[in-house]
Amino acid sequence: MSTPYDWLDRNLASIHKANWYRSTQTITSKAGTIATIDGCEMLMFASNNYLGLASDRRLIEAAMSATQMYGTGSTGSRLVTGHLALHEQLEQAIADLKNTEAALVFSSGYLANLGAISAIVGARDLVLGDAYNHSCLKKGSLLSGAKAINYLHLDIADLAAKLQENRAKYRRCLITTDSVFSMDGDLAPLQEIMDLADRYDCMVLVDEAHGTGVFGDRGGGLTNAVGIEQELIQVGTLSKALGSLGGYVAGSAKLIDYLRNRAATWIYTTALSPADTAAAIAAINLVTTEPERRQQLWQNVEFLKQGLQDLGIQAIACDSPIMAIEFGDIELTMQIAQHLRHNGIFAPAIRPPTVPTARIRLTLMATHTTSQIQTLLQCLASV
Ligand SMILES: *Cc1c(COP(=O)(O)O)cnc(C)c1O
Repeated sequence: MSTPYDWLDRNLASIHKANWYRSTQTITSKAGTIATIDGCEMLMFASNNYLGLASDRRLIEAAMSATQMYGTGSTGSRLVTGHLALHEQLEQAIADLKNTEAALVFSSGYLANLGAISAIVGARDLVLGDAYNHSCLKKGSLLSGAKAINYLHLDIADLAAKLQENRAKYRRCLITTDSVFSMDGDLAPLQEIMDLADRYDCMVLVDEAHGTGVFGDRGGGLTNAVGIEQELIQVGTLSKALGSLGGYVAGSAKLIDYLRNRAATWIYTTALSPADTAAAIAAINLVTTEPERRQQLWQNVEFLKQGLQDLGIQAIACDSPIMAIEFGDIELTMQIAQHLRHNGIFAPAIRPPTVPTARIRLTLMATHTTSQIQTLLQCLASV
């Protein structure tokens, strides 16, 4: 007897056949450099908890006292019953961190991008995005109904050519890019993108998911570190260096005012929980007042970069706490991930369709010790 769901078996079988099958691993420990994964203690080199804040005592205390004061749920959407004084405080803190007039928090970075892009552009408009942009930038463009064109990764000449060819045919144009590319760890040429945007009358949306807290004197992100002066739309997450959960858009007061009226993923969803909101406020406070965390992270980046160089291992980029190493095909990459795993190192393979080529993606935290990074290097040396 066939059922309308039989296609699931066939599709799962082809996912397995391509070596694309993924599954979850269960963690039973607090976020940190050592994790218990499927019952085994491992050194964590895959987390986005760059500053080690996800288990910081002050974030935990902030989350607990907000829960005591407001309860566990925010009970409704921001425009109805969910708008707490805490959300206002967090949005002010993000705007201060980013040096923008205003900010708006969403339930996740993914929803922030879906909501912002689909509100800003529509069917008569054009979105030009870096080919390696995060999934939520691509899905946001699709959802908006705008004409979406990818330009070659980091390729300013290709972006310029595509603007020259297409810009005049559309009403508004939005250029989208990650600031720090999540799977490769390389950096977008932000100033060149801004200059092209000026020339072709385009808006720019930069996703600082991996830049916030990591780049800039005060942790404001790559946009701040590069010193971009022109107006732009910054998006990011509270869930990586900031150790909480949620996303944001930061920009002009009128942009934020507009999004409050037009971003469906903000209007029709429940407001961020008191605990997440308070933890993010505490995190931004630490990001700006304890630059030594960021300095420690960058020392670790330097140490790993040097260590990889000494081993003759080439990472795709060494410009951020994300270093990805390509070893060959999916099967070999999976074997190397297994080898690392047997040696107590958690740095899984990232495979298509997430990325065009399989690689081991390493990420560093400020809280990694030199000896932990040495252990990683020794293990890589034995591959
Ligand atoms: C992780 C990530 C997001 C999504 O953020 P969440 O808060 O986890 O939903 C968006 N953009 C980029 C570039 C990311 O790496």
